Order: sequence, then C-alpha cells, then structure tokens
Amino acid sequence: MVSSVSVLGSTGSIGRQTLYVAEHTGIPVTALSANRSTALLEEQARRFRPKLVAVYDEAAARDFRTAVADTEIRVVSGINGLIEAAAGDHCDCVVTAVSGAIGLRPTLAAIEQKKRIALANKETLVCAGEIVMRRAKETGAEIVPVDSEHSAVFQCLAGRRREELRRILLTGSGGPFRGMKRSALESITPAQAVKHPKWNMGAKISVDSATMMNKGLEFIEAMHLFSVTPEQIQVVIHPQSVVHSMVELIDGTVIAQLGVQDMGLPIQLALTWPERCPSPFDTLDFYQLHELTFEAPDYENMPCLALAVDMAKAGGSGPCVMSAANETAVHMFLRGELGFNRIYDAAARAVEKIGITEDPDLETILEADAAARRFVEEEFGR
Ligand code: MG
Repeated sequence: MVSSVSVLGSTGSIGRQTLYVAEHTGIPVTALSANRSTALLEEQARRFRPKLVAVYDEAAARDFRTAVADTEIRVVSGINGLIEAAAGDHCDCVVTAVSGAIGLRPTLAAIEQKKRIALANKETLVCAGEIVMRRAKETGAEIVPVDSEHSAVFQCLAGRRREELRRILLTGSGGPFRGMKRSALESITPAQAVKHPKWNMGAKISVDSATMMNKGLEFIEAMHLFSVTPEQIQVVIHPQSVVHSMVELIDGTVIAQLGVQDMGLPIQLALTWPERCPSPFDTLDFYQLHELTFEAPDYENMPCLALAVDMAKAGGSGPCVMSAANETAVHMFLRGELGFNRIYDAAARAVEKIGITEDPDLETILEADAAARRFVEEEFGR
C-alpha cells in the first residue's frame, strides 16, 4: 500500500472518488490540485489538510491563498505548481485524474521521482505512450492503471509471463447510443450525450463514451501499457459492463475480471496494489445477473473508434493530434458550438491537415497537440 497520495484533479469525478478511497483506507492526502478555486476545493483542503494545493489558474490561486490563509497549506499555481504537486517529496503516489494533455508534464516529472503513478489521465499514454513507458522502465516508477478496463487487464496479467498473452479483449458498453445510425445521431444534445447508462463520469469522458472515442483512446492506452500490437487488441461490446475486460492466453484460456460499476474499486486497487483491503463498495449479485452479452463494435456508425484504431496503427504523433482535436471539439460540443457528428469530422480532418510525425520527442508532441487545437478552433469554431 502507498503511504501518501497526491491527487491531481481532485474536484473531478475520479478525484472525488479517490479522496473517498483515501479516507476509508486511511492513506494521507498530501497534495490536491484543480483548475480553479472552488468551494469544493476549499472543503477538500480543510478536510484532508494537504501540505500543498496547486490551483492552475494564477488569479484563482491568489484567491485560494486568501481563502485558506488561516491554515498551513501552501498554495502554488501554473504548470510548475502542478509539477510540484505531482513530483514533490510529500507523496509516494500520484493519482493523475486531470482531464486532457495538461497531465503529461506532471506525470513525467513524477516518473522521474520514481513515484507510483495511479494513471487516470488517458491523454498521457495516448499522446506520449512511448516516452512515458520508456522513462518508467528506466526509473523503475510503477504505473498502475485506474481506468476500469486497464485495471482489469492489469489484474488478469498479474504474475503471468508476457509471452503467455495472445491478446487483450477490451470490453466497452457501447455507450448510450449503441445500435443507432450515424444519421440519427446528428441532433444529439450535450444533455443526452453526458447521460451514460452504466457509469457515472465527468462530461468530457461521457461524450467520448457516446462517440466511442473513449474506447479508441483506451485501445491506444492499452497498447502502450501492456506492450502489445494493435493486432493483439480486440474491442468487444458488452452492454452490461460487468466484465471489465479480459485476456486470452496462448493456450486459448480466457481470464476475465468482473465487478460492480464503481470506479472506487480500481482506484482503491491502484493505491493498495499488490495488496487488497476490504472496501465499502457493493458486490456483484450473480442471482440478479440474468444475461451477459457480447458483440462486435459498429465501426460504421461509430467512426471515432475506427479512427482511433487507425491512429494506433499509424503511431507517431497521430494519436496525439487526434486526441487533442477531439478534446477541443468535445468542449465546443458541450458549449453548444458544434454538432455531435462534427466531433469525428474535427478529429479526422485535423489528422489529415496536420499529418503525422514519426518518433516524436516531447516538444514535437506538445506542438502537434497545440496545432490540432488551433486547427479545430479555427476551422470548426463559429
Ligand atoms: Mg474505461
């Protein structure tokens, strides 16, 4: 079990659930971070008494410093503040629950300090999977996935030789619009898209789940995390979301991990691994599980998934450009500035226009990320 934890993105969905897990497992929280100064952040700071709170926005950080002036808490800001929250001496584990490419530098800094990374930020591996995994291997920093699918694969592979793995069966619910035609998705509103039938998540990931870009990002993430080729990953639609993913071994045996749909479980495991401890979460009731079904994904009507698989195969800066363009388009969709189907158009066009650089370094990746965002804002903005 880790001895202290820093939570990047503490006011988001995963961040809040991490604090709940920290509380009931008794793991001290030594740093929090958020974009803005909010009442929730102050409440968290007063409850957990971290040494450090990083508020990304400078002006908001000043407000927050005033708000907690009666405490010992040090308030830092900007990207350097986020890096200090991730990589400072105060913790031995960082939960990277920030959304977007902003998580990349802090995660790399924490890897340099050999901290355990409880990885909940998809963009880190999607954009810079090769760099991140290479540095983690070199420094010996452990990366334990928080995403339910990757946690499942991680658990199924634990203690097994990598040569025994034939392929990963990455399951997904299919999202709220499974079975619908792309033409019928044209008029989907943000309110409809953020209502996921199975998982309770933040707005950005809920939209990604509706377009199935989320499964595509997870595909790329799995490739890096478990050092497999795109051909060794098969996406399987499983609407009940009881099986959280599976591995097929070379003798044909399939091992699955099952559980309730509660992100608290994989979060707790990432903090206690390789140990397990009792949890307050619900358990599966097999008498109530009448059917578990599996089917192939509908690539035609969910083109984001197909695009992501193509980018996984293309490699280089391709996944980063796609992901950054998607992130920008999703935020525009959430603000009512872009139609649902245009999210795919923006991601696909960005890849076409910006192109793919092979074997990019961190600077090239960050430039590709910025170029993709600019492109979508200029070409797709009103
Ligand atoms: Mg997931």
